[in-house]
Amino acid sequence: MGGLNRPKKIPERMRCLLKHIKSSHISIAFRLARRKNQAKHFFMPISLPPISRRKFLRRTMIAAAGLAVAPKLLAAEKPADDNFWALFSDPHIAADRATVHLNVNMADHLNAVVREVAALPVRPAGVFVNGDCAYNSGEKDDYATITNLLEPLRAAQMPVHLTLGNHDNREHFWDVIKADKKVKRPLADRQAMMLATPRVNWFVLDSLEKTLSTPGLVGKEQLDWLAKTLDANADKPAIVMVHHNPGLTEGVPGLKDFVALFEVIRPRKQVKAYLFGHTHFWDVTQEASGLHLVNLPPIAYVFQEGKPSGWIRATMAADGMKLEMRCIDTTHKAHGEVKELKWRA
Ligand SMILES: [Zn+2]
Repeated sequence: MGGLNRPKKIPERMRCLLKHIKSSHISIAFRLARRKNQAKHFFMPISLPPISRRKFLRRTMIAAAGLAVAPKLLAAEKPADDNFWALFSDPHIAADRATVHLNVNMADHLNAVVREVAALPVRPAGVFVNGDCAYNSGEKDDYATITNLLEPLRAAQMPVHLTLGNHDNREHFWDVIKADKKVKRPLADRQAMMLATPRVNWFVLDSLEKTLSTPGLVGKEQLDWLAKTLDANADKPAIVMVHHNPGLTEGVPGLKDFVALFEVIRPRKQVKAYLFGHTHFWDVTQEASGLHLVNLPPIAYVFQEGKPSGWIRATMAADGMKLEMRCIDTTHKAHGEVKELKWRA
C-alpha cells in the first residue's frame, strides 16, 4: 500500500490525543499513524515523525545539498512493509561531521546506512536508533547534526524512534527535539514507550542513568511500567529494546539492574527477544528460557578489529523474526549474514 493514502476517519482515542498536541510537527505523525495497519503509538516516544517532501527539500536547499539527495525522495512513493524494521545502534554523531574516532568518520557511516535504507525498493515501517545517538557527552549540537543526517528517512515517510545511551544527555536531546518534550510520556523522567505493530509490540526502554558513566539503569519505576504494560498487552509477541547489555558482555559493563529486568521478562512468555547495543559487537544468542539476546552492531566504530559495523534488517514473521546483517563495508564476511529466530512458546 502506498504511503500517501488519505485516512478516512479519526478514531476517538486519537482525537483526544490530538487535542493536547499543538505542534504540527507531531500531528504529522498522528496523521500518518491513521493509515490502516500502521504502528500506533500508545505513548509518545522520542520520535522523529516523517516530514513532508516540500519541507525536506526546502531545508536541504538551504543547506545547498538539495539536488544531491532529491532522487531519494522517490522512496516516499514506494510501498511500505509493516513487518520490516531497520535497526540502528550506536551512531555516535558529533556536531562536526568531520569528526573521526578509531579511524571511522561516524557521520559518513550514518549517511551510508541512511542512503541504503532510503533507497530500498520496499521501505521499512520505521527505524529504531538504539542509543548513543551523540558522539560522547550528549552535546546539543550533536543532536542537531544527527537529526539532520536522519532527515532523508523521514522525508521517505519513515518514522525514526530513538532511545538514549550512556553517551547521551536526555535534557539536551529534549531541548533539540522541542516538540517531544511537551508530549505526555508514561514516565516523567524516562523515555519508555510501547509501539504496537501488526506482529509484535515493541517495548523501548531508557537505560541512561548518567551521561558518560558506562553502565546503565532501567530503575524500579520503569520496570513497574514495563510489567504492567506487558500484562495489559499479553496477546502479541513482545520485543524489549534497551541500549545496555545485560550484565557484563565482552568486558563491557551493562545494565546494573538486569536481574530485576529479567525477572520481569522471563516469566512473561510473550516476551521473545531482548535487543541491545552498547558493546559495539554483533551477536545473537539464546538463553535457557528461550529468550533471544540480540546484540545490535554499531553504526559507528567497533571496539574489536575485524568486527562489522552496520545495521540490521529485521523482518517479523508470525512465529519469529529474521535478522539480516547489513555491513557498511559490503566486502565484510558478515555482510548479508542471516539469523532466523523462532519465538519461544
Ligand atoms: Zn556506543
